Amino acid sequence: MPSFAVPTAPRPLLPVSGGGEVPVRRVYCIGRNYAEHAREMGHDPDREPPFFFQKNPENLDTSGIFPYPTHSTDVHHEIELAVVLRSGGQDIAVEAALDHVFGYAIALDMTRRDLQAAMKKAGRPWEVGKAFERSAPVSAIRPAAEIGHPGRGRITLQVNDETRQDGDLAQMIWSVPEMISALSEFFELAAGDVILTGTPAGVGPVQRGDALEGTIEGVGNLSVRVV
Ligand code: MN
Repeated sequence: MPSFAVPTAPRPLLPVSGGGEVPVRRVYCIGRNYAEHAREMGHDPDREPPFFFQKNPENLDTSGIFPYPTHSTDVHHEIELAVVLRSGGQDIAVEAALDHVFGYAIALDMTRRDLQAAMKKAGRPWEVGKAFERSAPVSAIRPAAEIGHPGRGRITLQVNDETRQDGDLAQMIWSVPEMISALSEFFELAAGDVILTGTPAGVGPVQRGDALEGTIEGVGNLSVRVV
């Protein structure tokens, strides 16, 4: 029995549709992986490739409730496909990458856009804009053994029944196998790692009381209330 000098936090768990749970190890996010979103953020996708940042595993939240966070008046929605790994490694070949995928989920990369913009301008890290409490609402995981590996399919976000984001997974600049391979060159990937794969165009602010409904064709949907 280990003798912990302080209390241990429980490892975050994500439910699997059909039963079971995945213990989460790390959360990686990809930035500017859809060309139209890169442009709406003021960047040229032909000159600046996508890149990675991280959230904390504890930021994942399956409650369906998003409490409006502190220190921001411009919190944005970003609907994203989440990839959950069942195994990992380093320098994974693109051709072998999907063998490491356990399943997929629908996630929101909630962002304090005003803080993110201030950090960008100052050349500082993004964590205050991205990695705050409950900043990643997420659905149950659908196993790839059931739904396959969605390389295309409509991805949408509605806010109070108004469509704000409407794209297709096929518009990703880096495909899921390509981003797993690229990520594994920088980090050692492992079972329980979650990758948020970037958002299509149409990001915008949320308000308390908003009902967010995300859908990804072939994966499912995610309902979140902002409080
Ligand atoms: Mn994002």
